[in-house]
Amino acid sequence: MVRCTLCKERESIYTRAYSGESLCRRCFERSIMRKVRMTISRYGMFEYDDRIAVAVSGGKDSTALLHIMAEIETRFPKSTLVAVTIDEGIKDYRDEALSIASENSRLLGIEHVTVSFKDLYGYTLDEIVEMASRTQLTPCAICGVLRRRAFNIAARMVKAEKIATAHNLDDEVQTVILNILHGDPFRIARIKPVLDSAQAEFVRRVKPLCEVPEREVALYAYIKKIKFQDLPCPYAGTALRNEIRNMLNRLEERHPGIKYAIFRSVERMRPYLEKALSELKMRRCIICGEPSVGEVCQPCQILRDLKIL
Ligand code: SF4
Ligand code: ZN
Ligand code: ZN
Repeated sequence: MVRCTLCKERESIYTRAYSGESLCRRCFERSIMRKVRMTISRYGMFEYDDRIAVAVSGGKDSTALLHIMAEIETRFPKSTLVAVTIDEGIKDYRDEALSIASENSRLLGIEHVTVSFKDLYGYTLDEIVEMASRTQLTPCAICGVLRRRAFNIAARMVKAEKIATAHNLDDEVQTVILNILHGDPFRIARIKPVLDSAQAEFVRRVKPLCEVPEREVALYAYIKKIKFQDLPCPYAGTALRNEIRNMLNRLEERHPGIKYAIFRSVERMRPYLEKALSELKMRRCIICGEPSVGEVCQPCQILRDLKIL
């Protein structure tokens, strides 16, 4: 039996190749909580009395985030949580996720609010994808714009000051590489653990899991017996993101810690990128808040032309 490196008592269930630690179930759980608390404090994500909207899709990362936030929040009696789910309207996929999100919220005693594309925009994502089939927009590009907007509306509706999303270390590092491969390095400046609200009407987005590897979020959800939806979105993942995911996983296996190294490198580069970005006079899209050359970014423009926005 391999003993836990930390408590030196119990049997280890997981070895962290990047740190050399072997951890028992209890020490692993504690280490995840510690890591998330450190991320929250390092980036000053929350005030003690924030009302926090947790974006819960029903997948493993977001349901794990909801459980973690619920535990952290017990130490902050003046702060409140509300789970927010966006129902994009994706046939044979979103319904299960919605019931899982609401079940987890009920279990934790957290208010749960759902906002749908149909109510906000008049169409489901399936319908919009059909309408946009002659444009160059991918379903995820459309979904991304409309969902960001939907979260902002939902957060204002529930009077939240912050929106916590479940992006993990892997998501963040993949996005860095994707931006480089798309020839859009300045966008990296925007992949931040805390996103500034571009305008007063945008609610601050924070990513408390951004320093937890995907594998560890999954293990956490598994050992806490958290119920989540395992089905991938039918539109999910461009081929390129999947290839990057596989490449990074292969690299991490042979060179443990490489994902953290990329994450930290970006942290160090970000001030320079932001400076260069401000000199480039990039604007923020007045509709979705993403960096844009013009007043309205390209995806929002196309959605406007389709009379969806
Ligand atoms: Fe939306 Fe794409 Fe995510 Fe599906 S995979 S929910 S289409 S962003
Ligand atoms: Zn232990
Ligand atoms: Zn936009």
